[in-house]
Amino acid sequence: MNLPDTATPLNGIANVRLPAWLLPAGWPLQAGEPVTADLRFDAGKIASVTPYQPDQNDLWNAHGTLALPGLIEPHAHLDKTFTIARSRPSTPGLLAAIETLHQDRQHWTADDLRQRARKGLAWAAANGVTRLRTHIDWFDVAPPLAWLELGEMPHTSVTLERVALAPLSFFADAGAADRIARAVAESGKHCLLGGFIHSSNWDPAAMRNLMQSASRWKLNLDLHIDEELSPVAHGLSWLADYLSQTDFSGHICCSHGCALASGSEQQAQEILSLLAAQRVTLIALPMTNLLLQDAVTGRTPRQRGITLLKEAQTAGVPLLLGCDNVQDAFCPAGSYDPLDTLTCALFALQLDNVFDQQSRLICDVAALTGEAPAALPLSPGSDASLVIFPGSDSLTWPLHSAARLVIRHGRLTHQRTWNQELSHES
Ligand SMILES: [Zn+2]
Repeated sequence: MNLPDTATPLNGIANVRLPAWLLPAGWPLQAGEPVTADLRFDAGKIASVTPYQPDQNDLWNAHGTLALPGLIEPHAHLDKTFTIARSRPSTPGLLAAIETLHQDRQHWTADDLRQRARKGLAWAAANGVTRLRTHIDWFDVAPPLAWLELGEMPHTSVTLERVALAPLSFFADAGAADRIARAVAESGKHCLLGGFIHSSNWDPAAMRNLMQSASRWKLNLDLHIDEELSPVAHGLSWLADYLSQTDFSGHICCSHGCALASGSEQQAQEILSLLAAQRVTLIALPMTNLLLQDAVTGRTPRQRGITLLKEAQTAGVPLLLGCDNVQDAFCPAGSYDPLDTLTCALFALQLDNVFDQQSRLICDVAALTGEAPAALPLSPGSDASLVIFPGSDSLTWPLHSAARLVIRHGRLTHQRTWNQELSHES
């Protein structure tokens, strides 16, 4: 495979294998798989997507290589990332990690925050991420330094969204809830209200204040909710009930939702059908859930700790997979590569048809923003932004797929290849 020139925009890509979920109805199949596609670009946008025809010499030929639209990272923590070397918790589990985080905050100068966040964004961009949502911890009702610093990060190739992550107790006072929501609303585009909602801080009056302040300031929500295995965690069941009785104009993402896997099947089905009716998106975070749930020193975990992804899919709940913490007190590992997250989910959640169907879990911008897309990604008029996986195939992927070509607005921006694969390909 000859690589395209980074200096010149491409006319398009011939003979590229796209996943079934993003191809239009009626796309031809061969041996049960979608035939490869030809994509033509015009001024950084997709001009056409058609089944492959040979001898289109003005297009770069991908020789059947797998490709996806730009990836999304729906749930990260750029304020905490890359702190594991200096702040490692001494005991396992979520609450010990939170305590360690508070000790690490003494190091969070503007320089420290910028340098770590830039590194996370650079890794994500090189992996093909075009949009990243980071939660940022708030420590009182005023925006923290990390909120301000990340808001002023120079524009990169990754669209950055910020979520104000405040413990539910901050919303117990209606005036304080309103001040937080107002500060988020006045922070500009791509800012959301969040919260940490757990049985250790459960307070239905505070939940009501949180929802009402988000409504008042026309904010979308992304909640850390029920990140625990308690069968009586209240967050999702309260939210489903609230939304069935009260109009909420914005879009809501619920991150974690681990406790759904602990209660009864019937309770979970009721919650999921209410969430589906309200188009609430569920973001599963398999890596940190496997690490932090059912975590006891010296004991092998018995439970997986992950939300009911398959039942949510069946119920019609929009779904995404995120990395959550990367190299901090909550998770010592991580890469800002959505393929690593999907690989983890493949085994932990026993996913099948991973490339042709489940790859949507790391690409679906509409599930993240709640904005109805005009059309599927890579349809005519959309950004010519793709990630290409040289040396992989639909059975191997997402394992052994670190090699990558990232195309942004019709131009090659990042490449990571191995000579062994190039010689094999040629
Ligand atoms: Zn998180």
